[in-house]
Amino acid sequence: EVNIVWFRRDLRCGDHPAIEEAAKSARRTLALFVLDDRLLKPAGTPRRTFLARCLRALADQLHGHLLIVSGDPTEVVPEVAEKIGAKTVHITADGAPYGRRRDEAVRRRLDEQGVDLVETGTPYVIPPGRVRKPDGTEYRVFTAFYRAWTELDKPGPAPSERDAPKWVEPAKLRIDATKTVDLAELDTELDTEDDGPQLPEAGERAALGRWKEFRAGPLADYASDRDRPALDGTSRLSAYLHWGCVHPRTLLADLHRKRGDGAAAFRRELAWREFLADVLWHRPESARRNLDRRFDDIEYDLGADAWKRFDRWRAGTTGFPFVDAGMRQLAAEAWLHNRARLVVASFLIKDLHLPWWWGARHFMQSLVDGDLASNQHNWQWVAGSGTDAAPYFRVFNPVTQGRRFDPDGQYVRRHVAELRSVSGRAVHEPWKLDSMPAGYPEPMVDHGEERQEALRRFGRITGR
Ligand code: FAD
Repeated sequence: EVNIVWFRRDLRCGDHPAIEEAAKSARRTLALFVLDDRLLKPAGTPRRTFLARCLRALADQLHGHLLIVSGDPTEVVPEVAEKIGAKTVHITADGAPYGRRRDEAVRRRLDEQGVDLVETGTPYVIPPGRVRKPDGTEYRVFTAFYRAWTELDKPGPAPSERDAPKWVEPAKLRIDATKTVDLAELDTELDTEDDGPQLPEAGERAALGRWKEFRAGPLADYASDRDRPALDGTSRLSAYLHWGCVHPRTLLADLHRKRGDGAAAFRRELAWREFLADVLWHRPESARRNLDRRFDDIEYDLGADAWKRFDRWRAGTTGFPFVDAGMRQLAAEAWLHNRARLVVASFLIKDLHLPWWWGARHFMQSLVDGDLASNQHNWQWVAGSGTDAAPYFRVFNPVTQGRRFDPDGQYVRRHVAELRSVSGRAVHEPWKLDSMPAGYPEPMVDHGEERQEALRRFGRITGR
């Protein structure tokens, strides 16, 4: 008897409740991954390349026993189940809009074949949709969510190794599925890139290695260093968390043994990830449109030069060093420090008056950690149209932000080659130097004026 573990955003073997469950119900298990164009097309090369590497790492852990098939999961999964005579397909639940629709469709097809789709666990410590106000409705403000989330009992990590299933070699099952993808063909299939941005090492072992390193070092000062983009002060676990190379439950369990501000601040950031997934679960439409519908009426500058302004933002040639450093870090590393994400997003929306979803789409295509819930809702948070009613009138000043969070200008010099010869914090205002460093542009807007303009537009929709 064979069953199936259909891997999705849970590309690991340890602390994996769906694998545990599979091991209980059959003697042998087929590991399956489906390359689904609907998810891969909007992903961008860094994310696809990282996925290919994670799949390779997972296949290594499974001694090569991973079947990868390309196609529509609603056809592929029932087809594979039928061919090998499986009676159960085990998955980790997916709470995002497309994932939920897909899994319902797969469930219906499997039902017709008398096969069960069994969901065990989610990519979150508390399943999205579970944390509720006493009156049963969802939270819209993080601090209140966080209080409730903190008080809930949380499951500990699963004692995995002991109950590992016996993974079957796909070749032995003669599946002959329509579009089986050989590991060697993964790069062509996913259109990956070897000489693109520098990506983190992929897979579960790399994730746990990075966690160990972070826990032993930067975690202690995380509360203060996490806002300093020049430092290696954050965990850089986001891409691993997105693909489930490590589960946040594992991290949280380790944190229980740690005291201090660093551990507390880190726990809170993990909870932000859970909160935004919860918002998406309750309000799937928020991935595409404003949570606060008043913002549907905000005016954008979509005239003839909109694309030109957008291109300067993308290329990191706005003439604001902190913004440009951020956009160039994104291009070089497919990752961006959180402080810089906030400032570049604010600049696009409030200085260039361009729609948040233009920036969100660019991030989803460029980031190795692109994640629908975290990305769309953080963009909306900056726009003021999302959760927490983040005050729209608090417009980030790119110069003040730079001077405060990159006080000696190290971050800017690292990423903006034209400014490398400018020492100290003067790098944040190159227009004040005797002459502008060669090749670096003048600021593309007057921040003070655009700030006023953003406030005027906000006033028009809120009546303030
Ligand atoms: P750490 O500081 O080490 O934090 C640990 C983990 O907590 C992160 O890996 C992440 O999973 C979670 N986390 C931290 N901050 C946030 C946050 N504000 N919201 C949600 N989760 C958080 N994060 C993504 O994972 N994917 C995205 O696509 C994404 N897009 C963003 C877009 C904008 C405009 C902004 C302002 C933030 C975005 N974030 C996104 C959140 C945050 O910037 C990244 O999670 C963080 O920078 C990743 O680096 P790290 O792993 O070193 O974070």
